Amino acid sequence: MLFAADRSLELLELSAESSALQREWQSMAGLVPTLGPGAYCVLFELDVELTIETGRLGSVSYAAGAYAYVGSAMKGISARLPHHLRPPKRPHWHMDYLRPKGRPTAIVVAESDLQVECAIARHLDNGFTVVRDFGSSDCRCAGHLFHGKDPGALLGASVEAVEAIGCRALVITPPVAGDWEKAVRDGVADSAQA
Ligand SMILES: [Zn+2]
Repeated sequence: MLFAADRSLELLELSAESSALQREWQSMAGLVPTLGPGAYCVLFELDVELTIETGRLGSVSYAAGAYAYVGSAMKGISARLPHHLRPPKRPHWHMDYLRPKGRPTAIVVAESDLQVECAIARHLDNGFTVVRDFGSSDCRCAGHLFHGKDPGALLGASVEAVEAIGCRALVITPPVAGDWEKAVRDGVADSAQA
């Protein structure tokens, strides 16, 4: 019986951690300003190595560390990106399987009328480890997900990649590091101004 109690406590802790992460993503979604079409890098961290069933990619092992996913939203970033940051009802994109397990660290946005996501991905391919075939079913890139050990280096490289293709990099970061509860309670917009 003791084992069963321990086990349920463990599950409870796991689901509490997962809902805390979902709140962080939810808050991140609320910070996306009104933007036109373009591309974006979603940056997040995994605390531990995880093996996750990733749709058609099958079972993939993701090392602990920092990740940047490059995507695009040609119908408008503010119209589509927040939708991708909220808990997926039914996983569809590769990111839907992985993102809920990660902790958001930043989003780098590049407004552009041109398809620039693959150009950004090519820049990140130089210096970071690509997760093969992740997010690149519709293009010829090796992948659109990149892994590195240092989150700061990956963020810097994402900004450089956006600037290298001639776009302005808009960086969206969590309102107060480690204080999401407060951000959610006060309303994300208020804490973003503070
Ligand atoms: Zn591509």
